[in-house]
Amino acid sequence: MAIAVAAVAFSVQSCESNSYKVFSNKYRVQFSADLSLPPFNQAADTPGRFITVRRFAGKLTVTDPDGNSTDVELTRQQDMVFQMGLAGLILGKPALDNDRMEMFAYDLGCPECDVELYRLSVSIDGFATCEHCHNKWTLTDGFCVTGESRPLYRYRTYVSGQQLTVSN
Ligand SMILES: [Zn+2]
Repeated sequence: MAIAVAAVAFSVQSCESNSYKVFSNKYRVQFSADLSLPPFNQAADTPGRFITVRRFAGKLTVTDPDGNSTDVELTRQQDMVFQMGLAGLILGKPALDNDRMEMFAYDLGCPECDVELYRLSVSIDGFATCEHCHNKWTLTDGFCVTGESRPLYRYRTYVSGQQLTVSN
C-alpha cells in the first residue's frame, strides 16, 4: 500500500514539473474533435501536416497548410464548452522527434505579440510565423528558430479511440 501511494505521488509530481516547462496555462483551452472525420483527419493521418482551427460565430474554421478552409458547425454543447486559448489552435503530429506519433496542440496566437489579433501563419513545411513581429517557430517542438521569442503556447492533448481532447 505504501509503495502504491509513493508511486502515485511521484507520478503527479513529475507530471506537474513537466507541465510547468512545456504546457501553457495562460489561456483557457477546452476542445475536442473526431480525428477520423475531415477536416481533422488530415492532422492525424499525415505527420508534419498541421491544421489551424479558429472559432467564429458558432462555427469552427479549419484551414490546412495548403490554404483550404472548411467550416464546421458547433453543436450547442460544443459552443458552450469549447475554449480556444488566445486565438485558436494549431493541431498536428510532428514528423521529427515524435516516436510515439503524439498529437500536438499549439495556440494560433503569437506568444510574443500576445494579442488575439496577431495570429500565426502555418506553412506546409511545418513552421509558424508572425507577420507582426516576424518571429518564426518550428512546429516540431514549438521553439523559436528565427528571432528571440518564447516558445509557442502548447497545450496537453489526449487521444481516446479517434477522439482528440485538448485542454489545460
Ligand atoms: Zn508576433
